[in-house]
Amino acid sequence: MTQTKGKIGVTTENIFPVIKKFLYSDHEIFLRELVANAVDATQKLKAIAGKGEFKGELGDTAIKIEADDKKHILRITDRGIGMTEEEIDRYINQIAFSSAGEFLEKYKDQLDSIIGHFGLGFYSAFMVSEKVEIESLSYKEGSKGVKWTCDGSPEFTMQETKRQDRGTTITLHLDSDSHEFATKQKVEQLLNKYCKFMPVQISFDGKTVNDCEPLWAKTPSEIKDDEYLNFYRKLYPMKEDPLFWIHLNVDYPFNLTGILYFPKIKDRMDVSKDRIQLYCNQMFVTDSVENIVPEFLTLLYGVIDSPDIPLNVSRSYLQADSNVKKISTYITKKVADRLEDISKEKKEEFETKWDNLKLFIEYGMLTDEKFCDRAMKFALLKTIDGSFFNYEDFGKLIEKEQKDKDKKVVYLYATDSTAQYQYIQAAKDKGYQVLLFDSQLDSHFVNLLETKIKDSRFSRVDSDTVDNLIRKEDSQKPQLKDGEELDLEHAFAAVLPEEGRYSLQAENMGENAAPLLITQNEFMRRYKEMSSLGGGLNFYGELPDSYTLKLNVENPLVKQILLQKDQATEEKVKDLSLQSANIQDALDLIEKDTKNKKDEDIPQELKDKRSKLNDSLSDLRNQRKNLMADFGKGNTLLKQITDLALLANGMLKGKQLSEFVSRSLALLK
Ligand code: ADP
Repeated sequence: MTQTKGKIGVTTENIFPVIKKFLYSDHEIFLRELVANAVDATQKLKAIAGKGEFKGELGDTAIKIEADDKKHILRITDRGIGMTEEEIDRYINQIAFSSAGEFLEKYKDQLDSIIGHFGLGFYSAFMVSEKVEIESLSYKEGSKGVKWTCDGSPEFTMQETKRQDRGTTITLHLDSDSHEFATKQKVEQLLNKYCKFMPVQISFDGKTVNDCEPLWAKTPSEIKDDEYLNFYRKLYPMKEDPLFWIHLNVDYPFNLTGILYFPKIKDRMDVSKDRIQLYCNQMFVTDSVENIVPEFLTLLYGVIDSPDIPLNVSRSYLQADSNVKKISTYITKKVADRLEDISKEKKEEFETKWDNLKLFIEYGMLTDEKFCDRAMKFALLKTIDGSFFNYEDFGKLIEKEQKDKDKKVVYLYATDSTAQYQYIQAAKDKGYQVLLFDSQLDSHFVNLLETKIKDSRFSRVDSDTVDNLIRKEDSQKPQLKDGEELDLEHAFAAVLPEEGRYSLQAENMGENAAPLLITQNEFMRRYKEMSSLGGGLNFYGELPDSYTLKLNVENPLVKQILLQKDQATEEKVKDLSLQSANIQDALDLIEKDTKNKKDEDIPQELKDKRSKLNDSLSDLRNQRKNLMADFGKGNTLLKQITDLALLANGMLKGKQLSEFVSRSLALLK
C-alpha cells in the first residue's frame, strides 16, 4: 500500500485561517458547494453512459447525506464518476487549492459581497471542518480506491483503499464552532434552502429532499394553471394566491428560465424585496436579486434560473455586465408583454385584479422608463364610481368637457371619496369625471402622468372651486371695496385653527353654491406629500399647511355677513382710512423731497419723522386687523359657515367641534 504525503500548492502562507475569517458570514454555503460537486459528478457519469462509454450498471444514483450529531461528522456520498489518485492530485491538490489562493488574492477586498454567490467549491469544506476526507473510486475500469485526508494545514496525505463503491464520499469532521452542521434540523434547513431543486435525487434521513424537475424547467405549453398555483403555494406557503404569473423561457442570446408571479400588493407594508430566488442550473444562489432585475420587479415572487448570470463578481459589477443588462431588459419586456396581453384578452379579470396590481405597475412606471412607456398602453384609471378605463379611452372621454381655456385637459381626481365628498359631487354635477387616486404612490404618480400625457393637468377635486378647477373663460372677479378682501381674510382667519395659514379670495360662484370652501393648493400639497414619502423635498414638509378660503360673495349668507360687517365696522374703518390717508400724504411729501438725495444728505430730523409716520401707519393697519378679527369672533353666522366648511373637509376637531355643536343647538332654539 502506497501512501503519499505532500504540501498543497497554495500561494498564501496558510490559507485556511484566511478563508475562515473572510467567509464567516456565509459558512453554510459549503453544503451547497459539496452537493453541487456531487451532482456534477453524477451528471457527468450519466452523460458518459449515454454515449456508451460507461458499460457498467448506473444503479441507484441518489446522493446521500448523513449526519452524525454525536461524532460531529457530516458525510456526502455520490455515485458519480469518482476520482483516481491522479485526478485528486490534479483537481484537488493542484488546481482547486491554487486557484482558491489566486482567487482570494484577487478579490480579498470584496470577498464579503461576492462569496454568497460564489463558493470556493470543494475548498469551502474547510470553513466548517478541522479535518476533511475524500474517499473515491473512479468509474474507469481497473481503478483503485483512494483516500485523501487533510487537517486544515496545507499538508495532506493520500493513500490507497479497498473502496468498492463507485463514486465519492466527502467526510467532514466539523470543528467545534460548527457542530450544528451535523444536527438533523440544520441539515434539513440547509438542504431545503440550497438543494431543493437540484437535478439529481438527494436523500437525507431516509427521505428525498429535492424536486429534480422543478416546474420552471418544464415546457410552458404542457403546464396547467393548477400546477403553477401549487408550485407557488409550495414556495410561499403563507401567501395568498398570486394574481398572474409568467413563464420565462429563452435560450438565445442567453439562457434563462423561470416563473415570476404577481402577488397581491395592497399597500407599501406588503412590499418585501427578497421574494425572487435566483438559481444557476437548479442550484440555489441567492434570494436578493436587486442588481439583476430592475428594482420594481423585485416586488414579484418566483424563481429565475440562469447559468449566464456571472456569480463570481461583486454586486456593483453585476449591473454593468452586458449579459445581466440583456437579461434585465428581457424580463422587463416579458412582464410588460404579459400584462398587455392579459389587459386585452382578459379585460374583466384584469379590472377586478387591478386594485391589487396597481401599486406594482405604478411603482414600475415611476422607476423604469421603458416599462412606463409600455404600461401607458395597459395601465388603468379607476373613476370614483368604480369604472375602469385605459389612458387612451379616458382621454377621449373627457377631452371635450374637461378642456380649460388654455386647451389643457384637466384630469380631476380624489384621494378619499368620503372626505372629499362634496367636491366630488360638485364636479359630478358639472358632468365631470373624477378619478380615484388613493394609493401611497399617487402624489408622485400624478406628476409622472402630467409629463406623460400631452397637454394634461391633474387637479385634486378639493384644490379649488369647481369652476376654477377647469376654467372655461377668464373669471369675473367680484367687485369689493378697497381693502375689503384683506379685511375678510382677517375676520375669517381669527376663527380658524391656528396651525394653518389662510388667504382669502372672494369669488362669484352663484347663489346656490356653498358660502365658503377651504381649498389647498394642488402643487403645495403634492410637494408636501412627496416630501413625506421621502423625495428629497424636506423643505416643503416643514412648511405649515396653507389653505385658500374661497368666499362666495353671491351666496345670501355671505351677503348677510358682509352687511353685518359693514354695520359693525364701517365707521371705524372710515376713520382709520382717513388717518391712514393723511399719514400717507405726509409720507408722499417726504418721498418727493428726498427722492434724488443720497441717504447721508437727508437730514436726521426728516428721517426720524419718516420712520415715525411708518410706525403709525402699521399701527393703524393693526388696529384695522384687530377690528376685523373681533368682528369675526363675535359673528355667529361667520363662525357657523367657517365651521361648516371645516367640517366638510374633516378639519373640524376638538374644542372647535364641540363649540360648533353647542352653537348649532342654540341656533335651533
Ligand atoms: P469546481 O467544482 O468549481 O471545479 P471544486 O474545488 O469544487 O471546483 O472541485 C474541483 C474539481 O474536483 C472538480 O472540477 C471535479 O473535477 C473534482 N471533484 C470535486 N468533487 C467531486 C466529486 N464529488 N466527484 C468527482 N469529482 C469531484
